[in-house]
Amino acid sequence: MSTLITNIGELVTNAPDAGDDAAPAGPGRFAALADAALVVEDGRVAWTGPAARAPAADHMADCGGRAVLPGFVDSHAHLVFDGERSAEFAARMAGTPYGAGGIRSTVAATRKASDGRLRATAFRLAAEMLRQGTTTLECKSGYGLTVDDERRSVAVAAGITGEVTFLGAHVVPPEFEADPGAYVDLVCGPMLAACAPHARWIDVFCERGAFGADEARAILAAGRAAGLMARVHANQLGPGPGVLVAVEAGAASADHCTYLTAADVDALAAGATVATLLPGVEFSTRQPYPDARRLLDAGVTVAIATDCNPGSCFTSSMSLCIALAVREMRLTTQEAVWAATAGGARALRRADVGHLGVSARADLVLLDAPSHAYPAYRPGVPLVAAVWRAGELVAGAVPAA
Ligand SMILES: [Zn+2]
Repeated sequence: MSTLITNIGELVTNAPDAGDDAAPAGPGRFAALADAALVVEDGRVAWTGPAARAPAADHMADCGGRAVLPGFVDSHAHLVFDGERSAEFAARMAGTPYGAGGIRSTVAATRKASDGRLRATAFRLAAEMLRQGTTTLECKSGYGLTVDDERRSVAVAAGITGEVTFLGAHVVPPEFEADPGAYVDLVCGPMLAACAPHARWIDVFCERGAFGADEARAILAAGRAAGLMARVHANQLGPGPGVLVAVEAGAASADHCTYLTAADVDALAAGATVATLLPGVEFSTRQPYPDARRLLDAGVTVAIATDCNPGSCFTSSMSLCIALAVREMRLTTQEAVWAATAGGARALRRADVGHLGVSARADLVLLDAPSHAYPAYRPGVPLVAAVWRAGELVAGAVPAA
């Protein structure tokens, strides 16, 4: 069965650069077509081009001149938890600084919660993301921090996405405060063994107050030996070794990158590690934003994600993150939309999402707006009119043509 989605005022494709053998597989640069159409067949993009030259299809949908983007790829989220921290947020806005230790209150609540309760929260947040146009999401564990609580956290995450990240190394839990080395051994040993079957990635919070460079290296190496690929929470709360550890480990992504030295930027530019920026965190913790322009101008691949979590940033809105990236980090509207789609795909090493080139998964967002600039131009306004995932309309409605 084929569907022709037509009368698209602006179609952002990020299609792979044709004939460029040096380009990595997957999304290319920002690219958009005016007055376009797209054909979906068997859940994949089968054709894109001018609406006037569109081939016939079994079904037709009329976008009424509005814009279509690739589905957002949110490559950094923590959706498996219980409890909420609005009081901590309110205190922070009243002047209390944010520290890594706040995670521990969520850990205590998560350990007490039933599997069903954790599953219900994760599903609710994933559905909330989908309605807002996020068709691919990554989800981390990291609020269990015992073998059994981490195992059930990655199992819950695997129920909502294939991009599951084992983050036993989120923070040292209180019961290991006197012996953090023993906790690292637990993470690299029995906890990893219990979690690896449910996960694709391993992550470590490499930060003062969490895990140091040598601990992070050991954790990533153990993950790699168990078949997991690396990503790192790096340089969020201050300068530190996280970015260099990530690049050296061949991590797909170094996330946060709020405090960078020249050596960090050079390493990211020379390596294959994506810098994933999480501007909702700086917004919600009143920290300075990362210097995205410096990264982009150095040739670093930049992604934007939400970091949706109950502590440092509880937004699930990629549109808000795009608006922050444009307004606060000086990305162009094209760069921000690219970072939220193709950039996220690169951060997850996915060639099939983040773009609408032929054979990509047909993940599409129809905006109630004529151009890709609107999520930044009209911040906070719900502009997602419809969402398709793998060619199936999963949110909103579109008139048949
Ligand atoms: Zn995070």
